[in-house]
Amino acid sequence: MKPIVYVDSAATTPLSEFALNRALPFLRDSFGNASSRHSHGVTARQAFEEARATIAETLGALSDEIVFTSGASEANAWILNAIAAPNDAAPPIVVKNVNVVSTAFEHSSVWETLRSLERRGVDVSYLRPNRDGVISAADVAAALRPNTRLVSIMTANNELGTLQPIAEIGRLLRKRGVLFHTDATQAVGHIPLNVDELNVDFLTASAHKFNGPKGFGFLYRRREVELPAFILGGSQERGLRSGTENVFGAVATAAALAENVAALPETTARLCDLENALLCRLREVLSSSDFSVVGESAARLPGFLNFVFNGADGDAITRLLDLRGVCASTGSACSSGDVKPSRTLLATGRSVSEARSSVRVSFGRHNAATDAQTVADALIFAFRKIAAVRK
Ligand code: PMP
Repeated sequence: MKPIVYVDSAATTPLSEFALNRALPFLRDSFGNASSRHSHGVTARQAFEEARATIAETLGALSDEIVFTSGASEANAWILNAIAAPNDAAPPIVVKNVNVVSTAFEHSSVWETLRSLERRGVDVSYLRPNRDGVISAADVAAALRPNTRLVSIMTANNELGTLQPIAEIGRLLRKRGVLFHTDATQAVGHIPLNVDELNVDFLTASAHKFNGPKGFGFLYRRREVELPAFILGGSQERGLRSGTENVFGAVATAAALAENVAALPETTARLCDLENALLCRLREVLSSSDFSVVGESAARLPGFLNFVFNGADGDAITRLLDLRGVCASTGSACSSGDVKPSRTLLATGRSVSEARSSVRVSFGRHNAATDAQTVADALIFAFRKIAAVRK
């Protein structure tokens, strides 16, 4: 079988061997319930709380500010629903006089939750990014109303990799006394992050984006901020989210995050080299009218590129790439299979046809230096093949 070159790290990453080995004992011999009082339970509890402390430390947070969840979708939905519509069990109860400020290019887990809040009466203001895929702090300030209860803006966009001015926005919101959530799913483990420097009240993350296990994530909640409970029952996670603790998930997540954060300077340099090599090769062969990189001049996650190929369908390109053993994606993985133009690209002011022509390449730490050339050649092949059919 042809070797596969995987450049879809924004969709998911492979589980770290180090993290797996650290966590495997908690699926086997140390299988105790972390809430049990006997020695098996105590062993599990210790590992679980150590994992929480490790995760907190990498973000400059306190241990009791970290709450484990099944991933970022759950954490995002929890915070948005609980803050914008507290004590509001279910529709058709209508929420009155609450405004939430967010953006037009949030991940679907935030976007769809906001749409459902709108159906319940919450007023949501969606800010548009500029052409480079960046939200302006001045736009956030201008959107605030006396009834704005929460601002939710992602740290790094999942289709473009562009970084948002979270620290600057956080500073102004702290002064105005407005709660601030950032969905940092694409950024945690990929760039240095400190919750105090970011001035956020809530931050959400998902383990599988930084070589941890799928189906596990966490939220950071600033100690002084009240967050209503999400799941009632056995009172785990200090009563906020009941359910038997996933010790394997926590231990693997903490190990993967600590490993990634320790290697950040080296990984960042390697990912930037891969990105530059890919762009150099494409520019040697294709002309500037053939493709562009959205947000090329903006601050972006290292090794993360969103191409718009002129007049070529992004889905067709990624299918041709796949035939050559290159795994990339169009738009976000969560919406692939769905042929709608990318909501994110439309939000940056691209046309419908441009928004259908995007290909996301996201390198990861597993990629070899030669992968840049392989990906470039596959992109050139696919683009030319589609251009030839069009003629
Ligand atoms: N937010 C962003 C920005 C994401 O990229 C993703 C995953 N695609 C999520 C949230 C959802 O994360 P999870 O898979 O843990 O539910």
